[in-house]
Amino acid sequence: MKKYTFLSLKTNNLPYIGEIKEEINRVLESGWFLNGENTGCLEKEVAELCRTRHAVACSNGLDALRLIFRAYIETGMMNEGNEVIVPANTYIASILAVTDNRLKPVFVEPSDLTLNLDPDKVEAAITKRTKAIMVVHLYGAACWSPLLNDLSAKYGLKIIEDNAQAIGATASCTGLSATNVTGGLGDAAGLSFYPTKNLGALGDAGMVTTNDSKIAETVRALANYGSDRRYHNICKGLNCRMDEIQAAALRVKLRHLPEITAARRERAASYHTFITNPLIRKPLPDAGAVWHQYIVRTNERDRFRLYLSDNGVETDIHYAVPPHLQPCYSEYAALNLPITERIANEVVSLPITEGTPLADIQEISQIINKFR
Ligand SMILES: *Cc1c(COP(=O)(O)O)cnc(C)c1O
Repeated sequence: MKKYTFLSLKTNNLPYIGEIKEEINRVLESGWFLNGENTGCLEKEVAELCRTRHAVACSNGLDALRLIFRAYIETGMMNEGNEVIVPANTYIASILAVTDNRLKPVFVEPSDLTLNLDPDKVEAAITKRTKAIMVVHLYGAACWSPLLNDLSAKYGLKIIEDNAQAIGATASCTGLSATNVTGGLGDAAGLSFYPTKNLGALGDAGMVTTNDSKIAETVRALANYGSDRRYHNICKGLNCRMDEIQAAALRVKLRHLPEITAARRERAASYHTFITNPLIRKPLPDAGAVWHQYIVRTNERDRFRLYLSDNGVETDIHYAVPPHLQPCYSEYAALNLPITERIANEVVSLPITEGTPLADIQEISQIINKFR
């Protein structure tokens, strides 16, 4: 029986391995491993992509988000105990960045159509203690609405984007600045280059993008022991740097990101055309999405996954348990978040990366259409 792999990083990275090896060799021979030319260039290239004035490289996506909140605290714009509105349907790292800074996450339900934070439900969650809204562009689809621009202005709230899954995605409207590209929509954004993300490193790496010079400077210092120049520490910082080897590999892959995104869009469009089974709910078409995941839904998830697995199709679940139901967040377990909980029980992730041949997407769709 033919096997349809969910994801193979080996296959996906194969076209770039020659170029990556050359660049890694250059780093090796240079003897310069941190805060070097590759990191600086990658920052400029990502800032350009996200249409922001600044980009600051760091160790991973969670650290990017942690550093953003920490920078707002260091600069006096937020204080311990302040509230941050967060989407209830997200990967737990989004919430960890908030609670790590002793800020309080206020969970808001997603739209049942987009699975992303429902902007219409945000205003009701705002209190005197609210300082920020975190949007997560989950599965590669931008989460934005003109309403967010209005709420930010009306209540003086910062908007932080978790852009871990949506590098290069566009929203159907502009954000707080002139652009509609994710990473440049809000006040500050965190990117992840975790190996399985659309732009994946050879290990951990992340980036903060922002138009706010003060936040950029503070994040840069915080990520480097709190040091703004040699022997001068402006805050009690951390070590959250990106290394040159990762930056060099990421620069190679960034040059190919347009092809990677195009391949994912082609695969999503193919599923959209060929899956016709009324038992399976497809995601909404979204021309600006970069399809980090292709999520279908069914209320018979276990039986569906078993059927697919019996037919050689590997699938995954993103995510099986929402953050508020994780043991570490037991204080939020009693929250009433029925849409989030239903989504967690219905979602199935299908193979979507460039490593799955387009013809296989059609075959997988045909297998899905025979599910009864
Ligand atoms: C991957 C991911 C993160 C964390 O990024 P890391 O680089 O793994 O730390 C944060 N938020 C979301 C939505 C993610 O998918």
